Amino acid sequence: MNPKIWLSSPHMGSEEFNFVKEAFDTNWIAPLGPNVDGFEHDLEKFTEVKYAAALSSGTAALHLALIMLGVEAGDEVICQSFTFSATANPIVYLGATPIFIDSEADTWNMCPDLLEQAIKERIVKGKKPKAVIPVHLYGMPAKIERIIEIANKYEIPVIEDAAEALGSTINGNAAGSFGQMGILSFNGNKIITTSGGGALISNNEKFINQARFLATQARDAAPHYQHSQIGYNYRMSNVCAGIGRGQMKVIADRVNQRRKVYNIYLQHLQEFSNIEFLPEPKGYFSNRWLTTILINPQNNNGITREAIRLCLEKENIESRPLWKPMHLQPVFQNYPSYINGISEKLFDYGLCLPSGSNLTEGDLNRVLINIQQLFLN
Ligand SMILES: *Cc1c(COP(=O)(O)O)cnc(C)c1O
Repeated sequence: MNPKIWLSSPHMGSEEFNFVKEAFDTNWIAPLGPNVDGFEHDLEKFTEVKYAAALSSGTAALHLALIMLGVEAGDEVICQSFTFSATANPIVYLGATPIFIDSEADTWNMCPDLLEQAIKERIVKGKKPKAVIPVHLYGMPAKIERIIEIANKYEIPVIEDAAEALGSTINGNAAGSFGQMGILSFNGNKIITTSGGGALISNNEKFINQARFLATQARDAAPHYQHSQIGYNYRMSNVCAGIGRGQMKVIADRVNQRRKVYNIYLQHLQEFSNIEFLPEPKGYFSNRWLTTILINPQNNNGITREAIRLCLEKENIESRPLWKPMHLQPVFQNYPSYINGISEKLFDYGLCLPSGSNLTEGDLNRVLINIQQLFLN
């Protein structure tokens, strides 16, 4: 059997271990310490956002962001439907109702027109949404400027889910830097990883101070343990942050490499198929976290995305259908949704190809040859 080719596996550089070793040598093994401060500083510099709080996960960051915006049981929060469930789960943790919005065709992210329609309708029904959560899925930035313009018009704050989009920009501005708050993830499959972790970023210092407070059990200033609010154990450990500091030294290379992978697939698959890719709109720069393709069987000799996935799986190559929209998920299907059919089509036709920055030329050739054979048979 050929060795496994993963969809997106961790890719360590040469510095991570030094930062982790320093944490051990100095006995900073707690959820605070110089690596946590250093990693936050690296994130602030890289995203050009003023403040960052390193947390235990991207999900924790979203949970805290919603809490700080005052989301409570019975409230409504607008959420992109085409995403990973972690975007929507924290809304339900708080007893609030997610209102799902479908995608537009240019970026596959939240459709601004449907967003405005939904806001208007929810207001007529008597409930103004408490927040809007657009996602920069697969690293492609959403039409965030229009989304924010609409949200501002109705004075609704925006939390950007940039979990998959560290290194992505619009006209040079980082994904995650446009809204009141942005969240990042450093889970094992993301463009950089701390083995597990996340961050909240914001230009508003109040949010970040409050996030750090809530993430360390909401301890009031007193010599004994005193609490006037419910707290959480959501801070990133100094060991994990050490991995993060090492990864931030190579983030630019990781983005370049993922973009190279995308371009190799683009060049070679277009020769013999009518597979579609997702080009960048003008001014948009995607980190190409995952290369995503659309295979409409009507234009591709009846070949489906599932046929490609199974063919690759037989060869020990991991690929995966695009995210199944939240409005189709058994756990979320009864919540209100504003649907135009786009994310359902993306789910039917879409496949994520192996996209790791550590893939070799040989790995990519194996993927390409197997897909090519399917089309030539
Ligand atoms: C990974 C991911 C998250 C959650 O991040 P964790 O660090 O795994 O909790 C949230 N949203 C999206 C779109 C993601 O891909």
